[in-house]
Amino acid sequence: MAARFVGRLAPSPTGALHLGNVRTFMAAWLQARARGGRLLLRIEDLDHPKHKPGADEALLDDLRWLGFDWDGPALRQSARLGAHRAALARLPRYPCWCSRADIQGAQSAPHPGEVLRYPGTCRRRDPALPPPPGRVPAWRLPLGPGDDGRFTDAFAGEQTRTADQLTGDFVIARGEEPAYVLASLVDDADGGVTDVVRGDDILPVTPAQNVLADRLGLPRPTHWHLPLLVGPDGRRLAKRHGDTRVAAYRAAGLAPGRLLTALARASRWIAPDATVAALRDILPTFDIRLTPREPLVWDDARLS
Ligand code: GLU
Repeated sequence: MAARFVGRLAPSPTGALHLGNVRTFMAAWLQARARGGRLLLRIEDLDHPKHKPGADEALLDDLRWLGFDWDGPALRQSARLGAHRAALARLPRYPCWCSRADIQGAQSAPHPGEVLRYPGTCRRRDPALPPPPGRVPAWRLPLGPGDDGRFTDAFAGEQTRTADQLTGDFVIARGEEPAYVLASLVDDADGGVTDVVRGDDILPVTPAQNVLADRLGLPRPTHWHLPLLVGPDGRRLAKRHGDTRVAAYRAAGLAPGRLLTALARASRWIAPDATVAALRDILPTFDIRLTPREPLVWDDARLS
């Protein structure tokens, strides 16, 4: 018998919940509920300069207002540092002293939607050299010939590039702080997560996460990477496109069903003239594979 579906929502408290996250979270919620599975919620609050105080509570409040629920308490990634550090201790690593500018200078700029590939500079650095003063090292995993990381995404299809081609030796910790790629992989594995539904901005680091899973002997989850929301200019939905925070629509008196209907129609999960009042109303027609493969162009006219 196939393992029971376990999905998760993994918001980062870097700011308010906005429509881009909502579409992805709807897919994650619907996919879990459609399969009769469980859905966990994890707040990815590892120390990060962009994290805003109070953002976690506001995020959860907006999610509940939209009708999201999850199984068990909301977990905090910061409470699991011990597990992240235990995983880190099992991995080989070398210190890297390069700044982002150093890495950018060593290669041509990445294409949109790609990450900066590390060329391995510090792997060749003489370990007898003293560390540059006042710098905290980034610890990188030295990729070996057995590290491949390629996979078939259940939504986006076959991924043909290896971790070495995409990220190169990637960062697993900064100073003593485990990096996001490691922490989220360990949390998913410990939570028994079978399926990860998330935005395709994370697609380029997924081979790196697969390498970590293989190295640590953890199962690789099935991945479903969905396209992001973009503004009418084709750029990722952001402040310049107007206020698409859930809080702003709430303050304007919009009912949650209006937002859910607009996003579900645009995602082809309901008929173009159908209306829903709650997430569960989408379930009878929901099929994640109907989601358009191209980025969803958002315009508030979709709400009318
Ligand atoms: N915390 C990430 C974000 O909000 C998502 C990470 C993931 O789903 O693995 O962008």
